[in-house]
Amino acid sequence: MTIDQAQLLRTYAEAADTAHQALTALDQISGDGDFGDNLREGLRWTVAALDARPQEPAMAVAGSVFLDKVGGTSGPLIGLLLSAISRALTDASDEREGWATGVREGLAAIQRVGEAEPGDRTMVDALVPARDALDAGASYADGARAALAGAAATADIRARRGRASYVGDRALGTPDPGATGIALLFWALARVAE
Ligand code: ADP
Ligand code: MG
Ligand code: MG
Repeated sequence: MTIDQAQLLRTYAEAADTAHQALTALDQISGDGDFGDNLREGLRWTVAALDARPQEPAMAVAGSVFLDKVGGTSGPLIGLLLSAISRALTDASDEREGWATGVREGLAAIQRVGEAEPGDRTMVDALVPARDALDAGASYADGARAALAGAAATADIRARRGRASYVGDRALGTPDPGATGIALLFWALARVAE
C-alpha cells in the first residue's frame, strides 16, 4: 500500500478545521488560546502550498510550511516532526518502516529542541505511545489509538513545560491541546491507510 501524503495532509487539515473550536478551548484553559488557530492555519497554508506545487513531495512541503511560517511553540515543533517523517519516507524501502522511523526521529528532534520528557504534559505524551506502537509493528489504527490514549491521559498531568506550567491545577481534567492536535495526525494516517 502506498499512502498518499497529500491526501493524508488534506484529511488532517479537515480534522483540524472541525476540531478548531475544541482545540482553542483546550488552549484557553491551559495556555493562551492560539493552538487551534496555529494548527488550522498551518494546515490551511499547507493545503494551499500543495495546490500550488502539486509535484513536490507533500510531507516535505508541510514540514517547511510549519517550520517557516507557523507560530506558537507548536509550529516549529510540528515542522520538525513532519520534516523527519518526510525524510524517513523518502529513504525507507518499506513504507511502514518509514513511518516508524520518521515518528521516532521526529520525536527525538522535538525533544532535543523542546527538552520535554514524557509526563510533562506536551505533544511528547501523544508521540511516545505512537512511536512505541509503530516500533512494535502495530497497525496504523493501533498507532492512532495509542496517540489518542496518550493525549487523553495528559488530562491527569500537571504541566511542567510550556505555558500550561504557569496555570497550575487549572488545566487538570483537560487534555493538552498540542497532544490532542498530534493525535489527529495519527487519526488521519489511519483513516487514509484504511
Ligand atoms: P504557545 O504556548 O507558544 O502559544 P501553541 O499554543 O502553538 O504554543 O502550542 C502549545 C502546545 O505546544 C502545548 O499544548 C504542548 O503540547 C506543546 N509544547 C509546549 N512546550 C513544549 C515543549 N517544550 N516540547 C514539546 N511540546 C511543547
Ligand atoms: Mg498557545
Ligand atoms: Mg501562543
